[in-house]
This record gives sequence, structure tokens and C-alpha cells, in this order.
Amino acid sequence: MNEGDRVITRFPRCDGGVGSSPSSSPSPRHLITPSPSVMPWQSGLLSSIPGVAHGLSRRVEGLGHADGNIGFSAPRDRDDAWAMRQRWCAAMGFEPEHLVTLGQIHGRDVRVATKAHAGHGASPGSTQIGLGDALVTNQAGPVLMTLHADCQPVLFVDPGAGRRGPAVGVAHAGWRGTVGNIVGATLTVMTEAFGTRVDDVHVVLGPAICHCCYDVGEDVVDAWRQTAGADADEALATGGQRPRFSLTAANALLLNRAGVPATNIEMSGICTKCDGDHWFSHRGQGAQTGRFGAMISIHGG
Ligand SMILES: [Zn+2]
Repeated sequence: MNEGDRVITRFPRCDGGVGSSPSSSPSPRHLITPSPSVMPWQSGLLSSIPGVAHGLSRRVEGLGHADGNIGFSAPRDRDDAWAMRQRWCAAMGFEPEHLVTLGQIHGRDVRVATKAHAGHGASPGSTQIGLGDALVTNQAGPVLMTLHADCQPVLFVDPGAGRRGPAVGVAHAGWRGTVGNIVGATLTVMTEAFGTRVDDVHVVLGPAICHCCYDVGEDVVDAWRQTAGADADEALATGGQRPRFSLTAANALLLNRAGVPATNIEMSGICTKCDGDHWFSHRGQGAQTGRFGAMISIHGG
């Protein structure tokens, strides 16, 4: 096997493409279903928290015109993507007209959404909340959504025990966002805007390209070393021809540093490239591939 296999023991498990979660069961690859099923991926950790709903759409062969894609950007079919947003939202109990999306720029800007933002960037032609790569709210109504194809979705829930009430967030973390510490930036905004205590926050590091599949340039390694310092090797494998980077290990390290207890962090263990049948993967399927969505919302009172 490749040289990466010798150095993976300290990384989160990569299950080689058979993604799973406590609340979903992927169908066998060979099974041909006449009507493709719309089954969101959900985290066991977050599903146990009352007052909050979340889910990820996936790639489903034969669903709509583009395998269930929900991204609008060219050259994708926006009307089909809007129909798919409606399908996936129905499967998760969300109002598609309440989606809030960003102009994602691989940065570290965090936008605070309120009830008034519900629908910003939901349907074709509507205006997004702004540029950035993370959304947070402590209000019921807006359904926060980021779009992904290999970049890591990170879902945040502050259960807000007592009078404060819950707060939620979602971030889009590719290598630039990760080394820019977008997870730390998201927690900082939640703390300042909502009074969140970081050690109460529960986080899911969702499906993303795994380190085995993610060879990177020295620029990525250098940027990560600047961010992580002495701990950088926890997310790097440098034994092979090109270095490999683990978005999951990197984001977990930064969450820990910010004060999120390890027991409050769930890692999906799913690689979007290894499991390209069920997930959109930029590296696996090319730049024209679709996008899956990570959605989170506070239940209405
Ligand atoms: Zn992989």
C-alpha cells in the first residue's frame, strides 16, 4: 500500500469509504433503487440535544439532474438545485424558504444571522447574507447552511442550559479556513454575541477529504505550522512524496485549544473522496461536481 498507511494511527479513523453514522445506514453500492432515497446524514451527538435540528444532504445517484446537488453556482442548474434544496429540507423538517447562505470565500469571517435573515440566499436570485465562511444564530427561524465538496463542514451547538437558550453555528473549513482557525473565530463570535461558554459547546467535524486522499503543497504545510506551532504534526503526514493534511485532526486540535472538551467533539470518520458515491468531492469528481449542504437551526417556540 502507499506510504501514508504507516503513519495514520494518530489520525481519526478513515473508514475507506463506507461512511456511517448512528442515525443513518448507507445503502450498499450495488443496490439499484428505482427512486433514489433522500436520506440526510445526522450526528448522534447533536441529535441528542433538544431544541436544535441539523442534517447534511448527500450525493445520491439519479436524484434530480445532478445527483442531489444543492449548489447554485455556475455551471450548475439552479432550478434543479432549488428543487433539491426543497427535497432535502423536507427530509430534515426545515423550511427551504428559511435557508441562509453565504458567499463562501475560504476565509474566516463569521456572520450572525437573525430571524430577519431567514431566506437570504435560499432560492435562486435571492441575496445571500454576505461573504464569509461561517454562520451563527441564537434565534429560531433561520436555517443556516454551508456548501461543501471535500472542505469540512463543522457544526456547533451551545445547548444554552438555563435561561440563555441554545445557539448554533456552521462553518466551511477547507485548508485556508482551517489554518485561518475559522473554528476558533466561530466560537469567539458565539461567545461575544450570545454569551456562549466554550466548554459547553458540542461540535461535529463532518465528512471531508481524509488525509490519505489530501496531498498538499508546502505552502499549506507552512501555513499550518504557523498556526499550530509545536503541535502541527498532529495533522500532518510527511513520510510520502507529498505531505498530507488532515482537516479533521487540524480542526479538532484548534477546537481543543479554544477550550472545547474532547468529549464534546464528534468526528464523522467519512471521507468525501473515498466515499464519492455518497458525497460530492472536488478532488474525486472534478471542479464541476455538485455540492452538499450542512444545515442547522433552532426549533421555533
Ligand atoms: Zn479518503
